[in-house]
Amino acid sequence: MSLDEIRTRMHKAEEQAGRALGSTQLIAVSKVQPNDRVAEVLRQGHRLFGENKVQEAAGKWPDFREEFQDVNVHLIGPLQTNKARQAMQLFDAIHSVDRPKLANTLARLAQETGHCPDLFIQVNTGEEPQKAGVMPADADVFIADCLSKDLPVQGVMCIPPFDEEPSLHFALLAKIAKRNGLSGLSMGMSSDFERAIALGATHVRVGSAIFGEREYG
Ligand SMILES: *Cc1c(COP(=O)(O)O)cnc(C)c1O
Repeated sequence: MSLDEIRTRMHKAEEQAGRALGSTQLIAVSKVQPNDRVAEVLRQGHRLFGENKVQEAAGKWPDFREEFQDVNVHLIGPLQTNKARQAMQLFDAIHSVDRPKLANTLARLAQETGHCPDLFIQVNTGEEPQKAGVMPADADVFIADCLSKDLPVQGVMCIPPFDEEPSLHFALLAKIAKRNGLSGLSMGMSSDFERAIALGATHVRVGSAIFGEREYG
């Protein structure tokens, strides 16, 4: 699907939800995609991208940033504390802050460098044991803890369980954001971004619908 088609669908969803046109940002998820496809999307003028691995992003985005102005790259995948320093240099936002140890490391590095990307707290809305994210019941305390460390928390993020209606999870995430006074809602992917926009998403993370299926290996 072309970028234009995705944007048209986003605008339609915003309109139906009574939201301002353009109030949802489109993160083009470029993980695992060949560089020529990513370059094509950059040449079409798109500037906001998502990656899920620090190493992979380090291998491609410094070069793209030299070639194209005003590129924004967000980390949407898990972050190990030993890669936090590198991630803070590489990314404009981190959507996967999900545990005290990581928050402590980010706070320490932010103090040391005077710089911190925008942060989103990942919430495990489906309470899935194998999935990253703070449990919904622990979210308020964790968010307050991050804010008390002066971390620039902009919002919350979720990846709903594969086999459940995502709208329930989007609604739960929106509720957690609201009661914590956070405006950012990172939710919705290729198969459900319109439903996420209906429930207030400010950032949708769309990969395969833009780039086609990912080719692994
Ligand atoms: C890969 C990925 C996406 C994009 O998924 P698509 O189904 O290809 O749109 C969104 N969010 C996260 C966290 C991802 O890892």
